[in-house]
Amino acid sequence: MIKAIFDTYGTPLLIALFAILFLVESKFQLRKRVHNRWKRMFINLIVSIPAFALLRLLFIPLMVWLAVQNQTWQFGVNYLYESSFAGKAVVSFLLLDYSIYIWHILLHKLPILWRFHLVHHTDLDLDVTTAFRFHFGEMIGSIFYRGAAILVIGASPLMVLIYEIVFEAATQFHHSNMKLPYRFEKILNYIIVTPRMHGIHHSMIKKETDSNYSVIFSFWDRIHKTVRLNVHQNEIVTGVPSYADERELTIGKLWILPFKSIRQWKDSERQTDKKFNQLKK
Ligand SMILES: [Zn+2]
Repeated sequence: MIKAIFDTYGTPLLIALFAILFLVESKFQLRKRVHNRWKRMFINLIVSIPAFALLRLLFIPLMVWLAVQNQTWQFGVNYLYESSFAGKAVVSFLLLDYSIYIWHILLHKLPILWRFHLVHHTDLDLDVTTAFRFHFGEMIGSIFYRGAAILVIGASPLMVLIYEIVFEAATQFHHSNMKLPYRFEKILNYIIVTPRMHGIHHSMIKKETDSNYSVIFSFWDRIHKTVRLNVHQNEIVTGVPSYADERELTIGKLWILPFKSIRQWKDSERQTDKKFNQLKK
């Protein structure tokens, strides 16, 4: 099943999406690039290798296995009511995405998880390659959380795989530095997380990082009032202030970063207006 869906359709689709986003963000840049693109791309791709290996060889097989086992156990929300296949698919998809929104908040709020998620946030520019920059420790943590979420939701193996593919695609899309037509993005943002919205989450200003946690659907942030859209893209400085020295962000140093003592966030303030829900250019 993993081969038939993830490897046959998912992987080529995600590679094609990467190529498209990479080309488009080269031509139509949203935020001005500050650091060398190729150097960052190299670091992000190498850092991601253990996380990718874990994803394909452990995470996905384990999640699908759990969902298959659960067809016998019949545990979770989806086994509590009668509905069509499509109805249950929609409920699973929404609940899986909501569980990821909560997981993303935990990554920021629990010090043990922040150590690992920090590696992702130390990127000093934001583009499609940032979507790969995850420490393998974060992947290991997510196995427990997302396994539990699959059981609580009662998601089917097929939905677990479909969600994973869309999740990876959405992650590439909202990390990209692609300049979409402003009005189009504003409308799109009512439903899904867009590059401008997620760009604010990677700001060096703490209250901006502490917002926009959604991954696929943007409405989780609106519902929980964690949305912040009132920041111009050219005002954003990307990264974590206490980890802004490029020389400290090499591949080896990023791998061992979570196992060292973690520096406090050195904050700076920016005057912003009151309308948090207004997406700015
Ligand atoms: Zn984050």
